[in-house]
Order: sequence, then C-alpha cells, then structure tokens
Amino acid sequence: MSWPIERDPWFGCHLWQGSVNSNGYPTHFDKVGPHQAYLVAWERANGPVPDYKELDHLCRRRLCVNPIHFEVVSRAENQRRKFWAYRSGLKKCQKGHDLHVHGRRTPEAGLICRICSGVWDKPMPEPELEYVSAEDQRIRRLPADGGDDPGGNQSPPQDPASEE
Ligand SMILES: [Zn+2]
Ligand SMILES: [Zn+2]
Repeated sequence: MSWPIERDPWFGCHLWQGSVNSNGYPTHFDKVGPHQAYLVAWERANGPVPDYKELDHLCRRRLCVNPIHFEVVSRAENQRRKFWAYRSGLKKCQKGHDLHVHGRRTPEAGLICRICSGVWDKPMPEPELEYVSAEDQRIRRLPADGGDDPGGNQSPPQDPASEE
C-alpha cells in the first residue's frame, strides 16, 4: 500500500502528501475508515501507545508523520512542552543524545534531534530559503498591511469657514 510522504532534508520530517482532514491533519484511510496518519505510522513502528500516555510531536510540524518525531510522554509533560521556554531546556532526546549539541529548532518551535533524524550533517537552508511559519508571516505582515487603524483619519474635518 502507498504511504505518501516526502522527506524534509533539514529536519528529517516525513511530510505527508496524502489526504488531510478538515483540520489539516494527515489522514490515512483503510478498510475500517480514516485514521490519524501519524498514529498509524507510530504504532506500526512501536505498537500501541501505552495507557495514560500521549505522543509529543517533537517537530510540531502538522504534516510530519515520522515516528521518530514523536515521543511517549505523560499528559502533564506534554502540556509543559507546549511552551518553548520549557521545551528548549530539555537536555536529552528520547535516545539520550545531548540536545544542546544535537538539537535543532523547527519553524514551528519544535525541537528535533539531528542524530535521530539523520540530519546531523545537514546545514540549514540559505537565509533566503529560510522557513517562516504561517504564524510568523502573519505577525510580520501586520505593520506592512496597516490593518484597521482606528486612530487614523479620525480627526475632525477642518472647517475653512472658521477663519475670521
Ligand atoms: Zn517531523
Ligand atoms: Zn537523538
């Protein structure tokens, strides 16, 4: 059966090329119905997710279904990892590699291990190719767009007849 992925050279992500659900998440269809593709990939590699555990999406890239980019953690740990300040302080990857040496931040504020991901020798793209997340683009565009400026053009019209 087909497993439609494309490998990202800088982070080692397996970027899904197949169907996505209404939330944009990779979806795999089998005889039973639709499944989250990342979960199918992870369980094929590791078996069922243990009870009371969750999978932390290490790279935080929605289209990535690389089982290496998911780590079994408690719910509490998963919640803490939503914050970059906490995630960036993680010392080791799930295989024990030193993340201060081998970690690489993704545009989505995820953190992958370069050794586990097979990209330890791959430099980041040239600056002009730099990944910019949709969120960053939105933030950066705001000043240029001008947006709705409630303070602009609101001064009362000058009345030329008021000159005595
Ligand atoms: Zn990934
Ligand atoms: Zn590692």
